[in-house]
Amino acid sequence: MGSAQLLTDVAIVGCGPVGALLANLLGQEGLAVDIFDREREIYPLPRAVHFDGEIMRTFQAAGLADRIAAAARPSSKGMHFVNAEGRTLMVRRGIDGPGPHGWAGNWYFHQPELERILRDGLTRFSNVRVHLGHDVGSVDELEARYIVGCDGARSLVRRAIGSRRVDLGLHQPWLVVDLICDPNSPRVRSLPDYSVQLCDPARPMTIVNVGAAPGGLRRRWEIMLMPGDDPARVIEPDLFWPMITRWLGPADARPERAAVYTFHSVVQEGWRRGRLLLAGDACHQTPPFLGQGMCAGLRDAANLAWKLTAVVKDGVSDALLDSYESERLPHVRTFIELAVRLGAVLQETDHEAARARDRRFEAGVEMFDYPQPQLGPGCRLDAPPPVGTIFPQPRLSDGQLMDEAIGQCFAVVGEATLLDGLQTDAVLLPDVGLDWLSLHSKRAAILRPDRYVFAVASDRAELVDAVAALPVRPA
Ligand SMILES: Cc1cc2nc3c(=O)[nH]c(=O)nc-3n(C[C@H](O)[C@H](O)[C@H](O)COP(=O)(O)OP(=O)(O)OC[C@H]3O[C@@H](n4cnc5c(N)ncnc54)[C@H](O)[C@@H]3O)c2cc1C
Repeated sequence: MGSAQLLTDVAIVGCGPVGALLANLLGQEGLAVDIFDREREIYPLPRAVHFDGEIMRTFQAAGLADRIAAAARPSSKGMHFVNAEGRTLMVRRGIDGPGPHGWAGNWYFHQPELERILRDGLTRFSNVRVHLGHDVGSVDELEARYIVGCDGARSLVRRAIGSRRVDLGLHQPWLVVDLICDPNSPRVRSLPDYSVQLCDPARPMTIVNVGAAPGGLRRRWEIMLMPGDDPARVIEPDLFWPMITRWLGPADARPERAAVYTFHSVVQEGWRRGRLLLAGDACHQTPPFLGQGMCAGLRDAANLAWKLTAVVKDGVSDALLDSYESERLPHVRTFIELAVRLGAVLQETDHEAARARDRRFEAGVEMFDYPQPQLGPGCRLDAPPPVGTIFPQPRLSDGQLMDEAIGQCFAVVGEATLLDGLQTDAVLLPDVGLDWLSLHSKRAAILRPDRYVFAVASDRAELVDAVAALPVRPA
């Protein structure tokens, strides 16, 4: 614990997953960071259980992928939307083997364990000071060049910015129950390995295999509250066991914890005012039907980290920080709008409307993937996708994952003949990413430090022009 009085580069309000990741990424770049949380302990109640392969790649950038991989469960399975009769309506596809990001496409985890690893990671940096039990009452008390509000849904920093709330329409209370299951119970063994979204109008619910836990296997039930449910009482075992008795009972599992949450779909407009910035739930909230709320916040951290580093360490104009919201807002909105659409399928409680819904899927199961949206306008060339989308992470010929060879820098990948003798401080990776480039009929690409595509080129002249357009002097 250090003093909050010294002028620091970046003060972060909130040491949840988003603040803790941002502090790791900035700490790694040598910035002076003070991070504050009003609580001394990590939030113990059940929340996120899933992140995707792109997020594992961000943990890799923070030097924490191995520890997190050891604590999380990789999954090649998808998520099945099943109606009351057991017929599959939609499937979010799984991914076999390492996905495009060089890691399994889906990971299940216990949020307090993930946050513990992120917090422990901060002890690597003498330039990051962690202030736990410190309730920030006003941004005026923080003497820092930049202040990032990673302070969750009731953000104080957001109030100081005066952001505008945009309601995307879904607000619904759900009960969340985590059970520690007996691995020897036949009923436990017969549970599906994939995630289930049970589209039963009598009681919609979600079932997730979270993974190994002390004393058994952790399974998550998220259960929609119905008219007549008392939110204060449904957390009692006598009330929630009957809701899941068709799968498990007290002989198969013991409740770890239960809590009621209202799922929201909201974005804020106004993620920056001067030295104040927002990230994570402070600037967007999504219902968890895609398992992407925290993921979106961690993408904010990855986007903001290299830009703050460029401004603070490399003296780049701080106008670069204005590209943060313009890029991230449309990206996260795409995920939230899909989650709201899935929520409409899942949360239908009118039996006639549910039958009509089921008939719409009679022609066949609808298969879908996570969206891979283009960033909004900002620090990239003004061009259609794949510019502004995330570049994959192939293994290099020496077996190393691509990002390891780049570090937090810009990079140019593509045909060796195009890259040969290119005048740039970016890392040059000849003959890397050729499959992806040929898929897009391109010959080279410039990647940003967060691995989103800055530009693509079909010939040397285009590549030279794109390099000249790099807005920051690459490290
Ligand atoms: C039931 C449920 C299931 C979910 N499932 C998923 C999932 O599977 N995948 C996924 O990606 N996301 C999921 N989410 C969303 C995910 O949990 C959140 O998006 C994520 O926790 C947000 O992280 P954050 O760091 O932005 O905010 P928080 O985790 O809310 O952290 C904010 C921190 O700021 C601190 N703070 C606030 N104000 C102050 C202050 N004034 N001074 C000091 N400290 C302050 C708080 O104490 C807190 O520690 C789920 C959410 C719920 C509720």
